[in-house]
Amino acid sequence: MKYIPPQFKTLSEMAAIDVGRLTEDQAREILEKIRWHKGIECPHCKSKNIVRINGKSETVRDGLLRCKDCRKQFTVTVGTVMERSHITLRQWVQAFYSMCSHKKGVSSLQLQRNLGLHSYRSAWHLTHRIRSAMKENPLASLLKGVIEVDETYTGGKPRKGGNGEPNKRGRGTKKTPVMAIVERKGKVVSKPIENVTAKTLKTAIKEAVGKESKIITDEWHGYDGIEKEFKGGHHIVNHGRGEYCRGNISVNEAESYFALLKRGVNGTFHHISKKHLTRYCNEFSFRWDNRKVNDGERTEEAVKGMEGKRLMLKHLLKKEIVNV
Ligand SMILES: [Zn+2]
Repeated sequence: MKYIPPQFKTLSEMAAIDVGRLTEDQAREILEKIRWHKGIECPHCKSKNIVRINGKSETVRDGLLRCKDCRKQFTVTVGTVMERSHITLRQWVQAFYSMCSHKKGVSSLQLQRNLGLHSYRSAWHLTHRIRSAMKENPLASLLKGVIEVDETYTGGKPRKGGNGEPNKRGRGTKKTPVMAIVERKGKVVSKPIENVTAKTLKTAIKEAVGKESKIITDEWHGYDGIEKEFKGGHHIVNHGRGEYCRGNISVNEAESYFALLKRGVNGTFHHISKKHLTRYCNEFSFRWDNRKVNDGERTEEAVKGMEGKRLMLKHLLKKEIVNV
């Protein structure tokens, strides 16, 4: 009997094997439907007066559209993280799907092999562009309710120092601290921070959390006095005394988040420079925030975030941190 492949309309119905079988036209159709779910809109002037250019000649690019108002031409990649990319759309969709379905992330090297990309650098640029699509909208609402706050340090196991002294673990090391602010049963805000002083920690909490919330932290003195800022007060779980949970007072969700981040960072990526750590935090936060939906739906969510973002290779390669 002849095998007839199933017909899918949206990513949310697909498993990895189906995504792997997409043709270039199908991938384009999927991307267009996600980006322009309310109808195609000109990325230059926002007009919805659009015609599709179905030229037979080889000089007409596939998927070319034209705005009847500003008369400019565009495709689904214009004005997104995919703009001017030489990677095919089916590879883009597969890359989005891989990064959204692997809990600990996928390394650029793995993705290069899976997608058959010609160079490591283009795979690396691709994964960073997908991370920037995953970045939370800065206007997203504040976290509320019960909020767990914690910090950790990424970057491998502590090594022996030059003088035979083991590096200190945790607070006081030269490693970059990462902070997680977790809304219990909800979203996470996580990012690398300069230091773990009271000023840095409190500023980050106030930026991310609504005033009515209740804050839970460990006994680190940097959090002292935070109760003055929040109606729900400040509750402390004393890790130093071996206490991990007292009734509902724990930072277990924040620790689960860090466990995932660390397994990803130490196991999958091996080395993450401080410069790019923000984007890895965005990636892990994105998967955490969208943990309750299936892989295809999570992929659709990430694809929606591609709009209005560009992350050019020359910017990625610069020494200073680019927050895209
Ligand atoms: Zn236009």
